[in-house]
Amino acid sequence: KYPCRLDKFLSKAGHISRSDAKKYIKNKRVTVNSQIQTNAQFAIGESDNVGLDSKELKLIEHQYFMLNKPIGYLSTEAEANHPSAMSLIDSPLKIHAAGRLDVDTSGLLLLTSDGQWSHKVTSPNSKKFKDYRVSLADAVSDNDLQLLAKGLLLRGEDKPTLPAVTKRINEKQFILSISEGRYHQVKRMCAAIGNKVIALHREKIGDVMLDNELQAGEYRELTEIEIASFN
Ligand code: URA
Repeated sequence: KYPCRLDKFLSKAGHISRSDAKKYIKNKRVTVNSQIQTNAQFAIGESDNVGLDSKELKLIEHQYFMLNKPIGYLSTEAEANHPSAMSLIDSPLKIHAAGRLDVDTSGLLLLTSDGQWSHKVTSPNSKKFKDYRVSLADAVSDNDLQLLAKGLLLRGEDKPTLPAVTKRINEKQFILSISEGRYHQVKRMCAAIGNKVIALHREKIGDVMLDNELQAGEYRELTEIEIASFN
């Protein structure tokens, strides 16, 4: 929002604290339109160029993306054999995934530079439903789908899963909509009915649906409405 105080602009654009920003200004390291500016309250307009140590600073706000994560990519930092989903995103900011997907799961992954926002997305209190397209090794009965929907005990746990929604696609495929995010939850729920997940694809988180046009590995920025849907 312009006009903006110089120290505030510097702190935001440079991702530094306000007190560091003030220090840099005092130490004559900061220019406005190529002139040294020592007044921290100097008003910056939209067309002004602010420099730090002679390098132009651009104000980049947080960024928010949806990615169609391909199989083989980690939603966390890269490890020996697997690249990170973050490496697919072209951004000057440090991006992290808001929530996780297994390395062998594909589909909707939300990514952002905004830690407060990703906290809202992943907080168990938010109870946002996540929709997964599940492909199973064996046919799934209507009764099994009902058990999954009602909630069941996962191996090694003593609290049943929360009520879920199931929607059959065909004999071996269905949509499972869950509001929790326990470790490998979908795979373990299907193990609990004696079946096995052979492919898993996330299609939706809360109100945000994976764009049909995004091929595996492709991404786009979220709209303001999608970003605000987690508030
Ligand atoms: N449940 C799983 O088992 N794996 C995922 O990646 C997401 C949900």
